[in-house]
Amino acid sequence: MDAELAGVRIDTIELRRVHLALVEPFVTAHGTSREREMLLVRVRTDEGDGWGECAAPAEPTYTGEYVEGAHHVVVGHLAPRLLAVPGPVGPGDVARVLAGIRGHRMAKAALEMAVMDAALRAAGLSLAAFLGATRAAVPAGVAVGVTGDVRQLVEAVGRRVAQGYRRVKLKIAPGWDAVPVAAVREAFGLGLLLQVDANGSYALGDPAALQMLDGFGLTLIEQPLAPDDLLGHARLAETLATPLCLDESITSAAVAATALALGACRVVNVKPGRVGGLLEAVRVHDACVAAGVDAWVGGMLETGLGRAANVALAALPGFTLPGDLSASDRWFETDLTEPLRLGPDGCMAVPTGAGVGPVPLDEVLGCATASIEELGRRG
Ligand code: MG
Repeated sequence: MDAELAGVRIDTIELRRVHLALVEPFVTAHGTSREREMLLVRVRTDEGDGWGECAAPAEPTYTGEYVEGAHHVVVGHLAPRLLAVPGPVGPGDVARVLAGIRGHRMAKAALEMAVMDAALRAAGLSLAAFLGATRAAVPAGVAVGVTGDVRQLVEAVGRRVAQGYRRVKLKIAPGWDAVPVAAVREAFGLGLLLQVDANGSYALGDPAALQMLDGFGLTLIEQPLAPDDLLGHARLAETLATPLCLDESITSAAVAATALALGACRVVNVKPGRVGGLLEAVRVHDACVAAGVDAWVGGMLETGLGRAANVALAALPGFTLPGDLSASDRWFETDLTEPLRLGPDGCMAVPTGAGVGPVPLDEVLGCATASIEELGRRG
């Protein structure tokens, strides 16, 4: 990573609440989403603008973070600290300036992304190059939600396979596991790269349902137990041949190192928002490389903005498995940016433009925006 990137002087921080309709409802163990509400951050600097996207969903069901809370903490606690810095702020300074505030990693990540975007645009450097990407395209995986009907699930998976996705992840929950997984295996064979994600919905005391999944040749079982139960995951891992992967549990590179040392997982899902930013995400990547374990980049129903950043991150060499990096049309009728498309080889092209690459399109942004708040320097 290029640590020499010059900082930018932040003049104002704009917060936008946007709503985008999903093309279809998405059902997970957390509940059903019909639209994506999110918080966008634009920093206006002496070197030009930079955009950041906050991964927090509308409700605090994935972690404790949610849109309204992220907005509140940026206004009351994070933005004032950044705006109080008299000189230029580089991407690496953001986490340091905000370190006095505990948690709120998705809100911090959005601010870091915006500062990074502005600084990289000023330098004419792409995010992928800055982070240390080694590939021009990355294989794309897709997540398929709970349908409640096995036939509908097999049809949904069939559509994604036909579109060219290189691996499929099924959302599971107690009561929706072995039967639908068996049906998908039966329909598509062992040639389909297949994994499941429980979003922490199972209990350690009842491992039978998870052990039933062990015979289906899954690449991994993601986050079966509650996020804070690392020892439970380590114990469960001893009873399964399928590798466990952690998502919600991994909130930093330090936690990733702990989880790997405990044997709580053999694969790590990396999301910049969940760990506090792209720079910490690279440190989690580095911890996985050091431990010799597989890693991949997850998704939070990002718009083209956040997804472009995820694709750039996924181009690092330690991301050895396909990420949740689907095309814009997987989620949105109209994306905020020019749509990200799936290539004919089932890969997503890594953006090469300066900064994150894509920017929100004025017309779409205008229609999607519910409110705008502009925060400036005091005095
Ligand atoms: Mg997950």
